[in-house]
Amino acid sequence: MSQLAPFRLRPWFRTRIWGVRDLAPWYNYTVGEEPIGEVWLSGEDCTVDSGPFAGTPLGQIFAEHRTELLGAQTSHAERFPLLMKVLFPQEKLSVQVHPDDALARLHGEPHGKTECWYALEADPGATVALGFLPGVTEAQVRAAIEQQTLESLLNWLPVAQGDMIFVDAGTVHAIGPGLVLLETQQNSDMTYRMYDYGRPRELHLQESFRAMRLQTQAGKVVPRVQPESTVLVESAYFRVDRFTVQPGSTPHNIAQAAQPPAAQLLFAASGSGELRVEGCEPVALRRGEMAIVPACTSAWQMRATGSPSAAWTILRAIPL
Ligand SMILES: [Zn+2]
Repeated sequence: MSQLAPFRLRPWFRTRIWGVRDLAPWYNYTVGEEPIGEVWLSGEDCTVDSGPFAGTPLGQIFAEHRTELLGAQTSHAERFPLLMKVLFPQEKLSVQVHPDDALARLHGEPHGKTECWYALEADPGATVALGFLPGVTEAQVRAAIEQQTLESLLNWLPVAQGDMIFVDAGTVHAIGPGLVLLETQQNSDMTYRMYDYGRPRELHLQESFRAMRLQTQAGKVVPRVQPESTVLVESAYFRVDRFTVQPGSTPHNIAQAAQPPAAQLLFAASGSGELRVEGCEPVALRRGEMAIVPACTSAWQMRATGSPSAAWTILRAIPL
């Protein structure tokens, strides 16, 4: 069996009633009857799209090559730790909250869900809601849900392209329309819908009130510029940074990004290029695509292949 090397994943297009019919310029994908709201990039059902493991689901790579993929010292035994998605909300999404690890375990799940959103695109006036306005009490939240006025208690923030927003578990949150977001989250599907602006979908009020906290760490994160990359967010579960490779420059050697070595999830936000490892076919990566560099890959290079004016911008997530 071959040693695991960097590989590209095939995006998985998920229909959502709040999604869009046109995914350009991110994806050249023909949308069927139902709109597309989420594009899963590192789901366990996403299949490898390059190299000797082509066709294998990420979940199987995780099960059979966990140490090579995540490093010998990884604590992640149940499932691949990070789920990255591109979100295309066309209307405002319901108000939701996710449990933290402790509450998730009471429900028999290995992880809660702390997440972050990077704004790939933001229309003027686009907003997200993060938690409540100062001083709001749980009793006020309950009354506002009953009176269908919860949006007036939420803390709505304007979002611009390039913003990174941290959303820790327990933060009541909502995403408005006019955004394209790259979401990085603990790989959990525990979501409780708390409020839906009077729309008729089912709510999970009891679970929501158990999971919600009135004060959390959520908010916009100030980027930290470093010589190699700009760190956008760092939490107990993930670090996300951004770097650019210029076309025409010599291939870029990428240092191991974590100590001890960890997997690196690379999303191309603009331009195109390839990942190179000695003895392997280069892995091409274009805008909207994801590649994973396993922890066992010690030396690799990146080379931009686009036109001279098109920098290759990579958002990199590392599971911690
Ligand atoms: Zn969420």
